[in-house]
Amino acid sequence: LSPAASSDGAGSERTLAIVKPDGVWSNHAEEIKKIVLASGFSILQEKTVQLDEESAASFYSEHSKKKFFRSLVQYMISGPVLVMVLEKENAIADWRMLIGPTDSNKAKITHPRSIRTMCGTDAEKNCVHGSDSDQSAQREISFFFSSETPGGTVMGHDEL
Ligand code: GDP
Ligand code: MG
Repeated sequence: LSPAASSDGAGSERTLAIVKPDGVWSNHAEEIKKIVLASGFSILQEKTVQLDEESAASFYSEHSKKKFFRSLVQYMISGPVLVMVLEKENAIADWRMLIGPTDSNKAKITHPRSIRTMCGTDAEKNCVHGSDSDQSAQREISFFFSSETPGGTVMGHDEL
C-alpha cells in the first residue's frame, strides 16, 4: 500500500484516524467504526497500539514547543489507541469534518453531531485524531504502518 496517494485512479484519498485512549476506554471504538463505514470510508488497515512516550512525542513533534505538549504525550500513552487508515474520496477533509473542532467543548456548541461532541471531554481529551493535510496523512500513515511499528506494543483486539 502506498500511503495517502490515490490508489485506484478514482480520486480516492487516504487519511489516518486514531481513536485516542479516552475513546477506547469509554468503549466508543466500535461505534466510531460504524460511523466511519456508514460515512462511506473503507478501513484499509487497523491496529490497536499502546504507544510509548518516545513515539507519542515523535507523532506530535509539531507541537513540541507548546505548553500542553507534556500533558498531550501523557494523555496519548495513558492507554491503547485504535489506529486506522481510512480511504474515500476527499477522506482527509471529510474525516476532519466528521470529528469536529479540536476543543470538544466548542464542538458541543458548534458541531453537535460531531464525534468529538459524542465522546470528547475538553481541548485535550478529544477522543479522536485526523490528519490535517495530504502531507500529514502520508507521514502519519507511514508512522504507524511502515514496517517498523512505533511505540512498542501492538495489541490484539481481544486483549482490550
Ligand atoms: P487536532 O489536529 O484537531 O487534533 O489539533 P492540534 O493538532 O492542534 O493538536 C493536537 C492535539 O493536542 C489535540 O487533538 C489535543 O488532544 C491536544 N491539544 C490541542 N490544543 C490543546 C490545548 O490548547 N490544550 C491542551 N491541553 N491540549 C491541546
Ligand atoms: Mg493536528
